Amino acid sequence: MFESLSDRLEGAFKSLKGEGRITELNIATTVKEIRRALVDADVNYKIAKEFTDKVKDKATGEKVINAISPSQLMVKIVKDELVELMGNEAASFNAKGAPAVILIAGLQGSGKTTFSGKLANYLKKQLRLSPILVAADVYRPAAMEQLRVLGEQIGVDVHLELENKNPVEIAQNAINEARSKNKNVVIIDTAGRLAIDEAMMTEVANIKAAVNPQEILFVVDSMTGQDAVNTAKAFNDRLDFSGVVLTKLDGDTRGGAALSIKYTVDKPIKFISSGEKMDTLDVFYPERMAQRILGMGDITTLVEKAQAQFDEEQAKKLEKKIRKNQFDFADFKQQLEQIKRMGNLKDLMAMIPGVGKAMKDIDISDDAFKGVEAIINSMTPFERANPDEIDGGRRKRIANGCGKDISEVNAFMKQFEQMREMMKMMNKMPMGRMMPGMKR
Ligand code: GDP
Repeated sequence: MFESLSDRLEGAFKSLKGEGRITELNIATTVKEIRRALVDADVNYKIAKEFTDKVKDKATGEKVINAISPSQLMVKIVKDELVELMGNEAASFNAKGAPAVILIAGLQGSGKTTFSGKLANYLKKQLRLSPILVAADVYRPAAMEQLRVLGEQIGVDVHLELENKNPVEIAQNAINEARSKNKNVVIIDTAGRLAIDEAMMTEVANIKAAVNPQEILFVVDSMTGQDAVNTAKAFNDRLDFSGVVLTKLDGDTRGGAALSIKYTVDKPIKFISSGEKMDTLDVFYPERMAQRILGMGDITTLVEKAQAQFDEEQAKKLEKKIRKNQFDFADFKQQLEQIKRMGNLKDLMAMIPGVGKAMKDIDISDDAFKGVEAIINSMTPFERANPDEIDGGRRKRIANGCGKDISEVNAFMKQFEQMREMMKMMNKMPMGRMMPGMKR
């Protein structure tokens, strides 16, 4: 995410490295580079200039205390300003109501339908609410079908009226359905157009007037940079929306939309979406985003993602097995699946400070585990549960089954054995001594 901007900013800070103190001259050079980096990331020039003027003012007033070098000081100032530019605190999201109504608006292709599904999934899983989805795009049967499929996938009801061409009526009927079914959130996916269009705006405004939503979320493709900001302005003028959703942050996004939208429409970004899988939706935190832009990683989000997939029962079972040296291929497979559910592997790694940059050019796809999974999939349940019984003959059959060379299967078996050896060793160590402060 925002790799090029991160690189450029790092370059700007580098010019201060080795400087003993902050001077007007070195501030000016650095600030100029920061401004160029922002403009190249598709941040509007006026915003970039105001941003760097503030950075300059702050830096000029600062004394460099002993422990902090000029470059560290500059990183701190820029980080604080980035956080402020993106809205400081995470914005609240109002899903209270009987039912709460969430209206989703945006251009066609921005990711509205995908986001609607993700939001329903998030509300259901993380907030334990019971949402229903409403297909109010009466012009595209395919969009209705897409929402129906998503709903099925995440186990959320979808309100569909294939013959009804009146989106206001559909929305109202859906709210009635929600009431009768005891659902507490109604998510209305409206129709978009390829460009700003008066009829589209009127239609969404009419739905808004009829259903009085708790939240109106404007969905925008972050890849569209300055255009995203202009579209946001047009939608906000008409709908006075409550928050922004930035999609496609998994793509090659430069950062302009994320950095300029709050400034331009004075509405917070509430969610970011980075992928087509239903669980790649995150609440937007300006602080975390600033850290990621500055290559500081985002451990908080990583831990939260891990916690969301954490199943206490399963973890206890696993611990017991490890303690008894019974960790087998079925457990291994389960662990891989848990990691995969956390999202795109490269994005996850990039949340570890320093790792994102180091891995920039390494191609890590979601297929990274495929080879290992294919090997485990070719094993019989007996083999998965009894790794020690897998002899030469069985290995050959497994290799044939997954289309791999026997040497690959052997190498994997060896790695697995080493892992088990390590677990055995850890079992023998008293935990207290291994990690200070940790007791059982
Ligand atoms: P809508 O027309 O606004 O409802 O947009 P869709 O939800 O149909 O999305 C348009 C296309 O973008 C589809 O192919 C989606 O799969 C894709 N898409 C949506 N959100 C994301 C995202 O966060 N990342 C990526 N890579 N693709 C996305």
